[in-house]
Amino acid sequence: RLEIKNLQRAYGGRAVVDDVSLKIMPGQVTCLLGPSGCGKSTTLRMIAGVEMQDSGTIHVDGKLICDTVFRVPPERREIGLMFQDFALFPHLSVADNVGFGLKTGTKAERRARIEELLERVDLLRFIDGYPHQLSGGEQQRVALARALAPRPKIMLMDEPFSGLDNRLRDDIRDETLGILKEEGTAVLLVTHEPEEAMRMADEIALMRDGKIVQQGAPYNVYTRPVDRASVAFFSDAN
Ligand code: ATP
Ligand code: MG
Repeated sequence: RLEIKNLQRAYGGRAVVDDVSLKIMPGQVTCLLGPSGCGKSTTLRMIAGVEMQDSGTIHVDGKLICDTVFRVPPERREIGLMFQDFALFPHLSVADNVGFGLKTGTKAERRARIEELLERVDLLRFIDGYPHQLSGGEQQRVALARALAPRPKIMLMDEPFSGLDNRLRDDIRDETLGILKEEGTAVLLVTHEPEEAMRMADEIALMRDGKIVQQGAPYNVYTRPVDRASVAFFSDAN
């Protein structure tokens, strides 16, 4: 369970994330939905710990991982990341890519986990291959296996499927989120497409100009927009 409270971040005096609070539950997909530039990626970077907030707190399973003075480093947050530009390491084999974040256990235990995950994403036959030998979709599935390897409690996804063609994207997205739900991971998925959020989310947090303007079940957010700007956002083919 991820809990962020009153998160704030300004660049050059302009608040790009403005008092954002969110709760994300295990086995659920929460979509952070909003137009380009509204502050989605900045929010995710602060949760991941690669960027520092000006104020606000982040808790994982009730444990403080970050406020303005105390800060757990990114690699110890039990948070997995899947970003569009978060590519595989080209010089490492598929097995070494998947095993990259595995720091504990014996060599045999790590190998077993790698095999289990590659089987899960149906790519075990590529275990000794290299990223350039895989299609874009296959690389995405390896990236998923890599993100899952350390058993993160939370997965942050910043439009990780947007580089894929439409049909492949739907399949991989459904499959990926299915696996994450089965593992009981709490998922925060960023998107600027209302249809994607409607389809994938258990809960939607609608963001605009750095603020969460509405939060709730997809159907409620879609059928009861809070203001004109939300109506426009949902009706635009943005
Ligand atoms: P998109 O859907 O286009 O990815 P986003 O919602 O992820 O948009 P952010 O990347 O969080 O938006 O950016 C929010 C705002 O903050 C933008 O106006 C952006 O220009 C600004 N911004 C982001 N990072 C920085 C930075 N390092 N320095 C200055 N401004 C920044
Ligand atoms: Mg972004």
